[in-house]
Amino acid sequence: MSNDGRRDAGIAVRDLSKGYGEGPVLDGLSFDLPDGETLSVIGPSGCGKSTLLYLLAGLDKPDRGTVRTGDVGRRDKGRISFILQDYGLFPWKTVRENLALPLELQGLSSERRREAVAGMLDELGLAGLDERYPAQLSGGQRQRIAIGRALITDPDILLMDEPFSSLDALTREHLQTTVLSLWQRRRPTCVLVTHNVPEAVFLGKHVMVMNGRPARNVMWLENPCFGDAEARGEDRYFALTKRVYAALSGTEDCPCPH
Ligand code: ADP
Ligand code: MG
Repeated sequence: MSNDGRRDAGIAVRDLSKGYGEGPVLDGLSFDLPDGETLSVIGPSGCGKSTLLYLLAGLDKPDRGTVRTGDVGRRDKGRISFILQDYGLFPWKTVRENLALPLELQGLSSERRREAVAGMLDELGLAGLDERYPAQLSGGQRQRIAIGRALITDPDILLMDEPFSSLDALTREHLQTTVLSLWQRRRPTCVLVTHNVPEAVFLGKHVMVMNGRPARNVMWLENPCFGDAEARGEDRYFALTKRVYAALSGTEDCPCPH
């Protein structure tokens, strides 16, 4: 248990391998993500990023290797929320009902659900939209609701699969800031899958670059520019992103230390 009463929930991956019949997609991937930290996973389309997230979420089984989440000593896997690329909102439910759904599944009273939904709408800057349906929202607003729905239960672990990829650049930047401040307040352990280098560098305390087939972890970076929008104009930021681009194109190799 951490100091603020949250449950410890790191992620430990060892020798993880998975294929779908035509040779492995992931082959022998290993890494550790400490409790309450963020990891960006970046790689080209088809390299196995979603496969990795499904394995981390326990929604699919590896062919070989292990995924441990949560407090291993207490045999507590931690509560995991997963944000998919296409929002996953129910179109026939209002914003309020979409946000309240996970709380309803947890058996919270209607009064506590109402309070939590109102708090989350405030936190997301979407107060007043509670009676709208997803079709009556912009793409950015929908994605905000999807983020809120994932965080409303205060998960220990948050997995995000290219959550901003269908948004325009400005909305994307707003939402990156939203996710960062939600993380700062709630501190879930986060894995963000993206194919956008600036996004990976802004939101990942650690950055893992995947490439090739089967996908290997070709680079693991400790990221001093994490969460620092000001760093975007600085030399250290350019040096870092240059290394990530080089790893993506296969010209730099710096395997994971684990
Ligand atoms: P990414 O998220 O990095 O784009 P995926 O993990 O979705 O990559 O897919 C990695 C590879 O595995 C791709 O070649 C994809 O076609 C294949 N793949 C993913 N899921 C399945 C599946 N359920 N059945 C067969 N092949 C799959
Ligand atoms: Mg994917």
